[in-house]
Amino acid sequence: MNQTATIPGDQGLTDEALDLQRRARNYVEDVLIPLEQEAELLHGRLPEETIRLVKERALAAGLTGGLHKSENGGQGWSKTEWFLVEEQLGRSTNAISWHIPNGYNVWDLAAEKHVEKWLKPLLRGEARDAYAVTERGAGSDPSGIETTAVRTEGGFRINGEKWFVTSGDVADVLVVMANLDEGGELLPTLFVVDKSLGGVETIEDPGFTHSYPDGHPTIRFEDVEVEEDDVIGGVGGGDEVQKAWFAEERLGIAARGIGSMWRLLEETVEWAVTREQGGSRIIDYQGVSFPLADSATDAAAGRLLTLEVARLIDAGADPKVCHNKASMAKLFVSEAAWRCADRCVQIFGGRGYRRDNVAERFLRELRVDRIWEGTSEIQRLIIARGLEKRGVEALIQ
Ligand SMILES: Cc1cc2nc3c(=O)[nH]c(=O)nc-3n(C[C@H](O)[C@H](O)[C@H](O)COP(=O)(O)OP(=O)(O)OC[C@H]3O[C@@H](n4cnc5c(N)ncnc54)[C@H](O)[C@@H]3O)c2cc1C
Repeated sequence: MNQTATIPGDQGLTDEALDLQRRARNYVEDVLIPLEQEAELLHGRLPEETIRLVKERALAAGLTGGLHKSENGGQGWSKTEWFLVEEQLGRSTNAISWHIPNGYNVWDLAAEKHVEKWLKPLLRGEARDAYAVTERGAGSDPSGIETTAVRTEGGFRINGEKWFVTSGDVADVLVVMANLDEGGELLPTLFVVDKSLGGVETIEDPGFTHSYPDGHPTIRFEDVEVEEDDVIGGVGGGDEVQKAWFAEERLGIAARGIGSMWRLLEETVEWAVTREQGGSRIIDYQGVSFPLADSATDAAAGRLLTLEVARLIDAGADPKVCHNKASMAKLFVSEAAWRCADRCVQIFGGRGYRRDNVAERFLRELRVDRIWEGTSEIQRLIIARGLEKRGVEALIQ
């Protein structure tokens, strides 16, 4: 099979990668984009029957569980392949892609018991998970985490409260960061908590700016008893596992942000070349064309940087450098994508303020990418520390 890259920069990708990119693109165009208006009107909550179809089509297209091992039901993609898919998913609004069966990457480190009980059902679309780290007093600075675990006869007892637990409203299982108190020493540890266990309670489920499928509730854990092997990454291994997870998540945010800019520019350029005011096409006014040119330049630059991070991780480059570069990609693209959405709203004029306009939805949806998985300010701190510790050359070459 000899395929041509749909994007000039993708020359040199394997045939498998190009085929994957094409499947993801078709899935987004045929399944996700047609559902956006309905999802927006329903505040993100599509009917069960529609969700079932979204899952089935993703399973048929081989887009589920991308980074997970094939023996566990995943696809075993490289980070570059994952980038290509996430970029396509970023072209659609309302996060309908969250219904594609998947599980957080940390499950790869879980015991066999959890692979069978949780990971495999997650990748078949029969269960949902959520990841709970943030707390009232611990956001950008996780050292303030107050959720604790203590040893019991058969395992651990967890107490605490987690904020902004994405999908916590629909999840069957939660991965919870808590400090295990071992004789006064606090060991950051990830626990697997079945949401149906006694003592797990949702205490608040506030509304947020976007119209997404799942909520971000506050969940309290009161004397929740888990078993000895309900730990991921080992006792005290929570921080290390999380570092690896952050680099990957930040890469994903950047990849989706590029897809969003791509769609925004396509729709806005089409509008700007057809809309006429004052006797001219509006694209002939520099006040309209220059912001588009700036956003296209941002998208192209962000794409190169993000793809480079994916390729570096695949090539086994120094994880610390990859971590720094993933922060650069997340910082650059999340800020550029939101600027792009803001410019596109302006170019659509009054139509850009309607909820049935793609730019209006992206303007609300892209804002959180500058906050979650580490705010823009935290990314800058990480990059600045990297400059000091690893040197300018390591970060920019
Ligand atoms: C929709 C949504 C979904 C989320 N999903 C999850 C989830 O699934 N699981 C989870 O665990 N968390 C989740 N979060 C939490 C998210 O990761 C945090 O909101 C984020 O890390 C910021 O923490 P904070 O909100 O406590 O803000 P704070 O840390 O209180 O920061 C407030 C402001 O101060 C700035 N600031 C803080 N420290 C510094 C510093 N050292 N230097 C400069 N500026 C600084 C920040 O950049 C920010 O502008 C989610 C958040 C949102 C909004």
